[in-house]
Amino acid sequence: MTTTATEPTTTPLISIVAPFYNEAEGIEYFREAILAVMEGIADVRFEIVCVDDGSKDSTLSQLVALSTRDPRFRVVELTRNFGKEAALTAGIDFARGNAVIPIDSDLQDPPELIPVLIDEWRKGAEVVLARRADRGTDSFLKRKTAEMFYSFHNRLSSVKIPHNVGDFRLMDRVAVDALKSLPERQRFMKGLFAWIGYKTVVVDYVRKPRMAGETKFSGWKLWNFALEGITSFSTAPLRIWTYVGGIGALLTVAYALFIITRTLIHGIDLPGYASLLVAILFFGSLQLISVGLLGEYIGRIYLETKQRPTYLVRREHGTPDES
Ligand code: UDP
Ligand code: MG
Repeated sequence: MTTTATEPTTTPLISIVAPFYNEAEGIEYFREAILAVMEGIADVRFEIVCVDDGSKDSTLSQLVALSTRDPRFRVVELTRNFGKEAALTAGIDFARGNAVIPIDSDLQDPPELIPVLIDEWRKGAEVVLARRADRGTDSFLKRKTAEMFYSFHNRLSSVKIPHNVGDFRLMDRVAVDALKSLPERQRFMKGLFAWIGYKTVVVDYVRKPRMAGETKFSGWKLWNFALEGITSFSTAPLRIWTYVGGIGALLTVAYALFIITRTLIHGIDLPGYASLLVAILFFGSLQLISVGLLGEYIGRIYLETKQRPTYLVRREHGTPDES
């Protein structure tokens, strides 16, 4: 992890951090769009940290070629596909800017918004969030499930994730350093971003469709992502079982008393097979669910105790910009 503090100079350095996973078709669009915007901003220097997250197509070679042509592009090559969260972490670790802007390499986060983010930063914000005002380009199902996830997560967890805010944002160096100081290996970025706090300003934008290629997040991957988010930031799912168990025990005592009284009054009757079976199955499944939940958390503790790094870098391409 090489992060050298930026030398004191009057022009601030902005780091754009973009994770790439099989984005070969889109790199050229990305380069043009980013350069068009960044070159238009007065009084900033910039670097573009491209993280190749183990792409299987020509993404890496194209990025490397790009960084040899244009030293403002730096390429961090991971040893395999570590997932977007890890790729983003790598990029943020390598970024040297006074402000860091993570952005999706498929241009779904509009680069045109970058000058607005930088303006707010210059006015004193430490974090500038870009919020999707309209998710019209996502499918109905994705919008609905995302909405459900945000409200469910925020009800359970004391760290509130702002609705419809992705990874696209601007962070001042102080916020970046705070983020880097969090030791956990399983990185649910949305939650970590929210956890650090800092003086925050929100800017709205409209999310666009991908300009090339297709999404890497299937329904199953998103489900696991949601589980990760909830188990990273809340212990409520662990604790509800105490109450479920308590209520179940109370109900059982009440039912037992009822049976005893009835037997005393009416004598023993045989029927009861159905209610017995239902009760056994019901509590059996409750136990399985709670054990499964324990498993989720213990699995996370297990992964975390191994202290494996979040990502591995094969090498860094592109000459570090010394200007
Ligand atoms: N990405 C990555 N590693 C992965 C999956 C995705 O670096 O394992 C990158 C991808 O190249 C893109 C960004 O993360 O720049 C967002 O991915 P995608 O567009 O597939 O997600 P969506 O916008 O559909 O949520
Ligand atoms: Mg996308």
